[in-house]
Amino acid sequence: MIELKNSGNLIGSVGLPAEVNDTKGMSEAKQEDAVHDVRDAIVIGSGPAGYTAAIYLGRAGYRPLVIAGALAPGGQLVNTTEVENYPGFPDGVQGPDLMDAMQKQAEKFGAQIVWDDVVSVDLGTDGESSRTDGIKTVTCDQGATYRSRALVITTGSTVRKLGVPGEREFAGRGVSYCATCDGFFFRNKPIVVVGGGDSAFTDAEFLTRFGSSVTLIHRRDEFRATKILVDRAQANPKLSFMLDSVVEQVNGGDDGVQSVTVRNVKTTEMTTLPTSSVFVAIGYTPTTGFLNGALQLDKQGYIVVDGSSTRTSAPGVFAAGDVVDSVYRQAVSAAGMGCRAALDAQDYLTELVR
Ligand SMILES: Cc1cc2nc3c(=O)[nH]c(=O)nc-3n(C[C@H](O)[C@H](O)[C@H](O)COP(=O)(O)OP(=O)(O)OC[C@H]3O[C@@H](n4cnc5c(N)ncnc54)[C@H](O)[C@@H]3O)c2cc1C
Repeated sequence: MIELKNSGNLIGSVGLPAEVNDTKGMSEAKQEDAVHDVRDAIVIGSGPAGYTAAIYLGRAGYRPLVIAGALAPGGQLVNTTEVENYPGFPDGVQGPDLMDAMQKQAEKFGAQIVWDDVVSVDLGTDGESSRTDGIKTVTCDQGATYRSRALVITTGSTVRKLGVPGEREFAGRGVSYCATCDGFFFRNKPIVVVGGGDSAFTDAEFLTRFGSSVTLIHRRDEFRATKILVDRAQANPKLSFMLDSVVEQVNGGDDGVQSVTVRNVKTTEMTTLPTSSVFVAIGYTPTTGFLNGALQLDKQGYIVVDGSSTRTSAPGVFAAGDVVDSVYRQAVSAAGMGCRAALDAQDYLTELVR
């Protein structure tokens, strides 16, 4: 039977040199000793999914270690201003303030946070592992290694960008990557959507509820989106199309976006299209590179979970939020899934001692 401790006794503790954590080369007996110091749970990621998982695991007494990321701690919401659709904030909340509050809440219940990026994992489940006892080893960019019995992965995804002049300058001031989040701000104004897949069509149709008009700009004259979405969009009187066209530049002033410069890829003709906003819907990249094949991913690179659970292809490894979910992509849905991952991890840890 494995002894579970709630002391959060991490092997690669903050402040301990990385070599202290390296069990390779240790005798078997020493490795066994080290296992008693293994943490119960590590959460990778500090967005809404990660902090929610940490709050639940912390309240259950597991004192999780949160590896928060060095480049984007707090996740996607730290890059936005007003969040109006997170429950409990009738007057809205600034994205960074919301994430700050989640961090404090996780720490209040015993979560320990390190600001580093995970670069590789060893899930202790196959012949290639340094161990085959199910202990997970996580290695960080600065060289520290941490080990745990359960692992919750919440590393989110990043939006694909257009990469054109003006895009970065007007991000949050008319350039948006989230129609559900920001459509409301552009009532009765002309809106542009860029993309040709299901997300672009879903966004464009959703945005017709707000905008005076919606123009969908797509680089080809045919779409990747499913036929029913295309048919519906073509029948919508508020929606028009600029095909064989790419956005070359986003233009604006102090009040935000005013127009986009569009190039027809066949005729090379340039057009200036007045708009209040540009919704970029050309896809997301889930942050799973550090897994290096350790878990089953779908064709787009999202972590595959078992049905409505958060269980991944490796025992004791759970995943939640945008790194799993290519559909809903909201702070509240990520937080909800983080809760489920923590509860699944608790079940797993409880089973280990039975
Ligand atoms: C501009 C913008 C505005 C938005 N506005 C809203 C809104 O108003 N309302 C709403 O509900 N949703 C909004 N969203 C969507 C929302 O932010 C996401 O759905 C949500 O943040 C997903 O949460 P998550 O925890 O799954 O991942 P993320 O928030 O993406 O967090 C991922 C975390 O993983 C960490 N990480 C990544 N790789 C590693 C690694 N190798 N090692 C360690 N850590 C790592 C990152 O540092 C980060 O902390 C917005 C998104 C964007 C981009």
